[in-house]
Amino acid sequence: MERQVTGRFAPTPSGRLHLGNIFTAMIGYLSVKSRGGKYLLRIEDLDAARCPKSLAYAIMRDLDYFGFEFDGEIIWQSERADVYKNYFDILDREGLIYPCFCSRAQLHASTAPHGDTPVYDGKCRLLSPAERPKRKGAARVIVPDETVSFTDGLYGYCEQDLKKECGDFIVRRADGVFAYQLAVVVDDGESGVTEVVRGRDLLPSSPRQLFLFDKFGFQRPDFTHVPLMMDANGERMSKREGKSNLEYITANFPDPRPVIGMLAFNCGLTDKFEPLSLKELIPLYDVKKLKKEDIILDDRGLFSK
Ligand code: GLU
Repeated sequence: MERQVTGRFAPTPSGRLHLGNIFTAMIGYLSVKSRGGKYLLRIEDLDAARCPKSLAYAIMRDLDYFGFEFDGEIIWQSERADVYKNYFDILDREGLIYPCFCSRAQLHASTAPHGDTPVYDGKCRLLSPAERPKRKGAARVIVPDETVSFTDGLYGYCEQDLKKECGDFIVRRADGVFAYQLAVVVDDGESGVTEVVRGRDLLPSSPRQLFLFDKFGFQRPDFTHVPLMMDANGERMSKREGKSNLEYITANFPDPRPVIGMLAFNCGLTDKFEPLSLKELIPLYDVKKLKKEDIILDDRGLFSK
């Protein structure tokens, strides 16, 4: 059966959004809306202590300012621990979970970075129950000796040998909070997400997540990772910096169209620097127009006026 095209924006409210996040949300939105699909909002406040509700509401106001309209109910990860537990138990019943007691410093010493992903050497998997410390450990899932591949909507064919390039990964932290990797798959799977659009910094997580999609019996979504947005100095955008921060923008631009038009021009969607709304951009969207290289924001003086 054809599934309804469904995308989502999934911010972590540990800070205010920046323009790079708005760019990612915009591509996700245009990609599904240009095919008549649904766009969901999920607040990834798994770590409730670091993610105050006030920041989540500030994010919603910012999204509203840009004209995003979301379908369905907002999902709050902080309310879904019971659901994550059910899926965690599937892995546990299969004997795929073991506790890990490695400290940050030990992990640093025993993991070899592979690209952006540190590879865990499986040290704690070898501990017998008697050798395990009495304190609570984090829970890791055992990955198979397999290569997982997918075709990214923008970056094309990608593959990862889970054992060699990722290693067993954490699905629940020692403090009992479920890990992003597990929660994101459960939520995307249960919400029927057919397409994940997010920053290319998360591309190395996708094979791990596909492994969990298969384990939980969910249909795999398509992935499109998008380039990161850099400020004029070529640095990754931060939430505070300069006049491209959302506090400045929302206070100084009563109409968001010049800012949206600027993002569209910067990423290759339009060839003119002109004000446009999200709705006006829908018919202009084509993934083939998007640049693959990271984007150094060129505001053409918009923020210095
Ligand atoms: N919550 C993640 C973030 O804010 C995004 C997760 C995702 O899109 O899969 O970076």
